[in-house]
Amino acid sequence: MKKNRLSVEEYIQGVIDRDRVILSRAITLIESTLPSDQKIAEKVMEGILPHSGKSIRIGITGVPGVGKSTFIESFGKLLVEKGHQLAVLAIDPSSQKSHGSILGDKTRMESLAADKRAYIRPSPAGSALGGVSAKTRESMLLCEAAGYDVVLIETVGVGQSEIAVKGMVDFFLLLMLAGAGDELQGIKKGIIEMCDALIINKADGENVEAAKRAKREYANALHLFPAKENGWYPKVKVSSAIAKTGLEEIWGMIEEFKGKMLFNGFFEENRQDQRINWMHDHIRFLLESRFYQDELIKGKIDQVLPLIKSGQQSAIAKARELVDLFVLNQIGRGS
Ligand code: GDP
Repeated sequence: MKKNRLSVEEYIQGVIDRDRVILSRAITLIESTLPSDQKIAEKVMEGILPHSGKSIRIGITGVPGVGKSTFIESFGKLLVEKGHQLAVLAIDPSSQKSHGSILGDKTRMESLAADKRAYIRPSPAGSALGGVSAKTRESMLLCEAAGYDVVLIETVGVGQSEIAVKGMVDFFLLLMLAGAGDELQGIKKGIIEMCDALIINKADGENVEAAKRAKREYANALHLFPAKENGWYPKVKVSSAIAKTGLEEIWGMIEEFKGKMLFNGFFEENRQDQRINWMHDHIRFLLESRFYQDELIKGKIDQVLPLIKSGQQSAIAKARELVDLFVLNQIGRGS
């Protein structure tokens, strides 16, 4: 029989013992929007925090169809065969509506999902504010506390979530295809500048030459960007997730990156900055959720919506009024 609720200690111990069922339940707990769950989740996070931080965190993005899942499956297999424990968090933009995962993610990484050395979990995209950052970051820390030493975070390269993911990983990979410009591939401006490596995927069969050409072109283009503060020059690599080529080289590059960053101090500096941003993100998240969960505010919003909709009243003025009301009301309550 599944107990309805575990104690904070049971969650913490279960995660540290790498009990996959408890790890999954802990992630479900931190994803919950119920204030009572959030209080427990906070305590669980406090308990596991000293056990986290010991992984290399890798973000992977690219437009749908570029081969992310196939790549993660092949790359993930390589890593677990090297003796790593791998966690994959796939940010699922559709999950906000369906309240859970799209089935697709798990079936897309079937053999990795069946491997005991890997743990795959779709992560809901949530609302724009605090969604990805609040939940995915905490899931990542839980996975680390459970002993996973490589965490891959997958996003679909079309929106805001890349920026949030960049803010929580050590290394950011962008998967691309040869033979189509960035614009054609639907890659948003700024994402290429953000990445630490660009991977031209599907470099197999007739595609090999085109991939090599694309590699040269992107390598030249990347050279035009100013050097990053951490001294790393983004690299371009080719891979085939299906033929399983280029993967060793990509892992070698990530290890080289980690070595360099540990040596020049940027590894820790980046994580320190990320922790500070995390706090700010969480402040925004808490303020927003408390605001929208406030009964008085909910009622007021319902009242003003028709006026805003019809244009009779200014959205900006009403927003300010509502926030002022919320703040005054909180002070009145002494909280
Ligand atoms: P995602 O949407 O980015 O996760 O892409 P998928 O991993 O689902 O792959 C999309 C399609 O591309 C599938 O039909 C894959 O079989 C195919 N694919 C993925 N990687 C490769 C590759 O390295 N070479 C070739 N030829 N096809 C690939």
